[in-house]
Amino acid sequence: MGLNLEVFKYFFDKATIGIKIMEPNGTIVYVNNAETELIGFSEQELLGRHFSDFLPEADKAKKFFDAIKKFEALDEFRTKLIRADNSQIDISLDTSVNTRDGVVESVCCFTRDISTYKRNADLLHFLNLAGSELALTYDTESALEKVSQLVVPSFATWFCIDIVKGGKVEVLKIAHQNPEYLQWAYAFRRDNPVSLEDDYGIGKVLRTGKVSFTPVVDELILNNGFKHPMRDAILDKLNPQSVIIVPMHVKEELKGAISFVNTGKYYEISDLYFAQDFANRIALALENAKLYEEAKAEISRRIKAEQKKDEFISMASHELKTPLTSIKAYNQLLEKKMQEHPEAITFLRKASVHILQLERLISDLLDVSKINAGKLTYNIGRFNLGELLEESVESVQHLSCTHKITIEETVDTLLTGDRLRIEQVLTNMLTNAIKYSPNANRVIVKAREEQDHVVVSVQDFGIGIARQDLKKIFGRFYRIGSSSMKYSGLGLGLFIASEILKKHQGVFWIESEVDKGSTFYFKLPRNVVAEENVVT
Ligand code: ADP
Repeated sequence: MGLNLEVFKYFFDKATIGIKIMEPNGTIVYVNNAETELIGFSEQELLGRHFSDFLPEADKAKKFFDAIKKFEALDEFRTKLIRADNSQIDISLDTSVNTRDGVVESVCCFTRDISTYKRNADLLHFLNLAGSELALTYDTESALEKVSQLVVPSFATWFCIDIVKGGKVEVLKIAHQNPEYLQWAYAFRRDNPVSLEDDYGIGKVLRTGKVSFTPVVDELILNNGFKHPMRDAILDKLNPQSVIIVPMHVKEELKGAISFVNTGKYYEISDLYFAQDFANRIALALENAKLYEEAKAEISRRIKAEQKKDEFISMASHELKTPLTSIKAYNQLLEKKMQEHPEAITFLRKASVHILQLERLISDLLDVSKINAGKLTYNIGRFNLGELLEESVESVQHLSCTHKITIEETVDTLLTGDRLRIEQVLTNMLTNAIKYSPNANRVIVKAREEQDHVVVSVQDFGIGIARQDLKKIFGRFYRIGSSSMKYSGLGLGLFIASEILKKHQGVFWIESEVDKGSTFYFKLPRNVVAEENVVT
């Protein structure tokens, strides 16, 4: 069998790839069936036309013909093609140039429709972008806003997110390419409430958890699901031509549904997979935003409760202080009057020890509320630390007949700071040393100079502190579980001490062993740079 033109034409027409032959200037002289199908014009309509008429991207068309002029064959040259119905598709062109005597005689061009491939690649890119953008949103409002920007108009003309709350379907968000049409979309939803009993659309998706895909919305479908006095006006505006409704799942749990509605473009099956994947990402973002919001609400609830507690502590301690001052004064008066009654004096002295304890508790409470409100004041002056140590030890010793407090090493150093507040720190450490060593009978105090600092330590031989509690005991109201029932206290002394030391640019630490005892240290610079009477 001879190979004539007819044979070639016969086989070319069987090819699934578009083939055309052009003159060097682009005039079409031959097209196969696949090419006519691709462009949408018949062979007669195409022959004699210029190929550039079908290339909407002028710069690409120029590149294409420049290559031909230079006898260059093109490989996978990507551009767009205008079809007979004016739609555009993405194509890939391969050319082969036929020359004779150094001139281009004809060009054979192969056309492949890559629109589906291109669309899928675009969608994938979009999905990745959406995933990372949504991961950065922390509140539902901005997550929904981001979703709207991502979906409309690139994937849908309008879309709607529905969730189920208490057995009822609620619209969470609607976004439309044209914001003016939003009111129509809301009207549409308001007047057509979705029910979980519905046998179509959103209701069915929410009930069954299965996708609903309507590539082409026809009159029949619209009549089924949509009744409204202004039906035609609404449909004219919203014009749903292709609809995908997908369920939103988070960890297998059905959270809601998203309806993607398109006008002017029909969804394909590949869009369905994309929509499902996208819906799950949206669901996750919304779930994260919800969790984040709940956590935020919980934190602010706790802060408010803390504030309330602080207000109460401040008010209560003020209220307690006044009557206690009177009791103390009357107690002292009675002590003077009862000089001839030694038994009564013993009782009154016992009472005054308890009054002192009460006074300390109340002033600790007052200090804490001042610290929290940033209103603790410091009166800065110069004082001798050695003298202060002696005085503090003496006054605590005065209250204890079980322990002997010994100053084993001391200093004769002048410090700059608030004398009373540093005394408060020492008193707290000394009373703790006695309180938490019920089976011991001594406490050792040491002070030494270290370059331009002084280091003070208070050592006891008591119950000790477990490693995991060492850092925590400086926290407000923190008391070690095992000691909280046995020993009285509010868990404030060390918190206040740490605040005072910090304000004096001091550091503090503990060395302790359970059942052996603890040593509390603090280190202060000799010249504290603290302002006088500062509100801190
Ligand atoms: P309070 O003694 O009123 O409970 P503090 O703030 O002074 O409050 O102490 C906090 C907690 O640290 C105490 O409840 C106790 O559990 C622990 N603690 C403090 N000093 C000692 C110590 N010397 N030995 C063992 N535990 C101590």
